[in-house]
Amino acid sequence: MNEQLEQLKSRALQEIDSIASEEELQNLRVKYLGKKGELTSVMKGIGALTPEERPKLGQVVNTVRDLLEERIESVLELTRKRARAEKLSSERIDVTLPGRQLAKGSKHPVSMVIEEVSDIFAGLGFQIAEGPEIELDYYNFEALNFPKDHPARDMQDTFFVENNLLLRTHTSPVQIRTMLNHAPPVRVIAPGTVYRCDYDATHSPMFHQIEGFMVDKGITFADLKGILTIFVTQYFGKDIGVRLRPSFFPFTEPSAEVDIACVICKGKGCRVCKQSGWLEILGAGMVDPEVFKHVQYDPESVTGFAFGMGIERIAMLKYGINDMRLLFENDLRFLRQF
Ligand SMILES: [Zn+2]
Repeated sequence: MNEQLEQLKSRALQEIDSIASEEELQNLRVKYLGKKGELTSVMKGIGALTPEERPKLGQVVNTVRDLLEERIESVLELTRKRARAEKLSSERIDVTLPGRQLAKGSKHPVSMVIEEVSDIFAGLGFQIAEGPEIELDYYNFEALNFPKDHPARDMQDTFFVENNLLLRTHTSPVQIRTMLNHAPPVRVIAPGTVYRCDYDATHSPMFHQIEGFMVDKGITFADLKGILTIFVTQYFGKDIGVRLRPSFFPFTEPSAEVDIACVICKGKGCRVCKQSGWLEILGAGMVDPEVFKHVQYDPESVTGFAFGMGIERIAMLKYGINDMRLLFENDLRFLRQF
């Protein structure tokens, strides 16, 4: 029986020493020292011994148990130390590595132009107003002196939603909504998104406008020209020439288109200005008395002017962009330049 114990001891020690993980060691502990372990089953043979032999065997078994216990503990400690060292070295942080750059966004050129233009007019005492993008026919056309079936409606290719509802084709309905809610004097600009059924290098089905208008006693065409000249010189530079050409809009009379000297060739003539030296930037005019009737303003006591410009066109001129579609493709290589 002693011999059996001796074999068990050396076999167990060998196994313990060859083990690498904590889990395997715990399994070994159960295998040899557990309630159903090998050492315990040797003890079961104790009944066959004489009473004198029993304590001796008990002693030997205890010595072997202590020895194995001790060996398992020391190997266990080693294994834990090794695992900890491995974990530390694999999770080490090199504090000298350069940090990761956070991607920094920038403002979209359309937003930039809206903010810059709004700032200039805010400085001239204009307040900002907004209106709905899905608009009633009445505000988009009829109150602006486009009667039903009037050919001027063809100038604006319209997306209709249903019956009397459409996607607004310009920001001008905000004029009507504002005047209906405020008695004169009013001085307002209205930036916003508008929609027309049109798509090429200079047209997009969704684009942006800024509408501006001012109504008070004694407003004249000279006030319109003065305000627009201040805007153009502040936005495009002091030496930029401005000219007004007669035009037609149903809601203004007289109406004008406003040109600035070409920002590319400074008026000498180039491809962008089609050799004319001038670039159209906005439409404007004196508010038609018919429009005042729709908002219960008295055309005998107040006059006013209105103007509207396409934001994308202004952005293209200001930043030298040659295709409007670039503004809506959201290509980061393009947007990062601003
Ligand atoms: Zn030019």
